[in-house]
Amino acid sequence: MTEPSALDNLLTESRSFPPSEEFAAQANATAALQQEADADREAFWAKQAERLSWATKWDQVLDWSGAPFAKWFVGGKLNVAYNCVDRHVESGHGDQVAIHWVGEPGDTRTITYADLKREVSKTANALLSLGLEAGDRVAIYMPMVPEAIFSMLACARLGLVHSVVFGGFSAEALRSRIEDAAAKLVITTDGQYRRGNPVSLKAAVDEAVEKTPTIGNVLVVRRTGGQVDWVDGRDLWWHDVVDAQSENHTPEAFDAEHPLFILYTSGTTGRPKGILHTSGGYLTQASYTHYNVFDLKPDTDVYWCTADIGWVTGHSYIVYGPLSNRATQIVYEGTPNTPHEGRHWEVIQQYKVSIYYTAPTLIRTFMKWGEDIPARYDLSSLRVLGSVGEPINPEAWIWYREHIGAGKTPVVDTWWQTETGAIMVAPLPGVTVAKPGSAMGPLPGIGAKVVDDTGKEVGKGGGGYLVLDKPWPSMLRGVWGDEQRYRETYWARFADQGYYFAGDGAKYDEDGAIWLLGRVDDVMLVSGHNISTTEVESALVSHNRVAEAAVVGATDPTTGQGIVAFVILRGIKEDEDGTALVKELREHVAKEIGPIAKPRQVMVVAELPKTRSGKIMRRLLRDVAENRQIGDVTTLADSTVMDLISSGLNSGK
Ligand code: ATP
Ligand code: MG
Repeated sequence: MTEPSALDNLLTESRSFPPSEEFAAQANATAALQQEADADREAFWAKQAERLSWATKWDQVLDWSGAPFAKWFVGGKLNVAYNCVDRHVESGHGDQVAIHWVGEPGDTRTITYADLKREVSKTANALLSLGLEAGDRVAIYMPMVPEAIFSMLACARLGLVHSVVFGGFSAEALRSRIEDAAAKLVITTDGQYRRGNPVSLKAAVDEAVEKTPTIGNVLVVRRTGGQVDWVDGRDLWWHDVVDAQSENHTPEAFDAEHPLFILYTSGTTGRPKGILHTSGGYLTQASYTHYNVFDLKPDTDVYWCTADIGWVTGHSYIVYGPLSNRATQIVYEGTPNTPHEGRHWEVIQQYKVSIYYTAPTLIRTFMKWGEDIPARYDLSSLRVLGSVGEPINPEAWIWYREHIGAGKTPVVDTWWQTETGAIMVAPLPGVTVAKPGSAMGPLPGIGAKVVDDTGKEVGKGGGGYLVLDKPWPSMLRGVWGDEQRYRETYWARFADQGYYFAGDGAKYDEDGAIWLLGRVDDVMLVSGHNISTTEVESALVSHNRVAEAAVVGATDPTTGQGIVAFVILRGIKEDEDGTALVKELREHVAKEIGPIAKPRQVMVVAELPKTRSGKIMRRLLRDVAENRQIGDVTTLADSTVMDLISSGLNSGK
């Protein structure tokens, strides 16, 4: 068998949505942005960097001589926290709300930029009092409380490198990340709310820290008031250490390439990688993309990104992008169905949210809950909707625009990765004629293309691999402590061309728009055809009875691989003949994209295995489909899901 050289291009989509004239007329980004980038890429990025305040200007925009290790804005110095906080206070916006924080139990806090400056300064003084020095690593293991953001910014202010570990991860996941980065401090809370109930978090830290000798202190925010064990000398209450500090702290400027954070990828395809990001280029691109892709108007918009700070979207589009742009934003602590399934719409109505950024998995969940729920709320303040994390199926895109965006808001599907640091491929809401399900094209200043196995760009209508053919400011600066893995994972595949290999399959449609087709690792090879998981899933989701679908290729004696689909249904009816529906779904896929993609099996399940960031873990479903022992489940949101699926299947349900 020869190695797959391209992906079959199966699903077609003809709907398209130009921006309204009204939107286009007021948009931050116009077509001129692309022209500027095309005229002189480095000058373009230098201009974007001017969005920030630099203590010392750079003398070189890009140094790529040490490829694949980039240096951006060489010689420049800045303080990232100063750019996200102090400068807005200095420019007279201290009274502007930075964060409308909404706790899960319904408690709220309003934090202005002046408040943020005080809190971040106190936190920075506290970290200094603990003896931390620039370059030291700090693990942040917290729910979505304001102190988590204060902590990240205090680290940035001091040149400490934060490593945020999702608060839903286990003690073992925390331990391995602390160990990998040799962190000196953990910042955590006593506990966190999970669907209305307080659960302990500190206990997991205690367990992790027992085996991580680099940790000197554990700084604990009181959130739930639950019982905690205490190790004197090591454990410190936030209210004892931080509250007493001075509100004044003068930020020091750091080199543009000073490390800002390490963040571990979500582990969808294997062992998580500790991705390293630095300061000047990262902040430039986070700020640039947030301003242009979401069309942020700092004086009037209320922005809400529903991600957790435990993954990269929370870093770039809750903390660094929005705050560098002086946004007013919502930070919500809880889950979307606590205390009820209209929680997000209630928050949007109450705070008049105008920009909302979430993940396809949640959009499909909202679809499953029913459109009558959002219909009960006034969502007329919304003017831009965003999506990130997985390919958004055309049907979910349409539903989102129709039922959340009143049939008129632009929807921006944003493709990027932990590694890219910021959005790379996305429509510009006032410029691009968007197609439902497509991330459209690279942003101005970004080079992305779809190539075949030999690195040659495929033509219109062709499928292959997504690559980034030019270095970009917020690109990763390596995998923490593992140069080899960095080179092998991203740069070995297309070494001759010097392309960054993203690991995602993609295609061009007839107009040259880019469609993401899922992980290369997940591509199915059926009777000589390379079929993408995304296209078959989208076909399934376009059936009105399917809420969510995940497909995998399982070894098949005749076709090489056979397509096995796992589906969650909408509205299960009593006494329904499942066999008839399964048959209908198989036919539906055949009709939508052709007989070659007809699933060999369709299994109805109650849940799908997802990572904490909401991505489907197909590798685990492949284990089920091939009757294998289930692989590594440590980054799974709910580890009981796999038992549920396996037992449901074994009992023939
Ligand atoms: P690991 O690399 O450890 O397997 P991961 O890739 O899931 O984890 P992330 O960096 O959080 O970790 O996810 C990036 C990936 O998410 C992308 O490579 C892509 O597969 C997917 N993705 C993100 N946004 C989009 C999008 N808008 N359209 C399609 N896919 C997307
Ligand atoms: Mg990845």
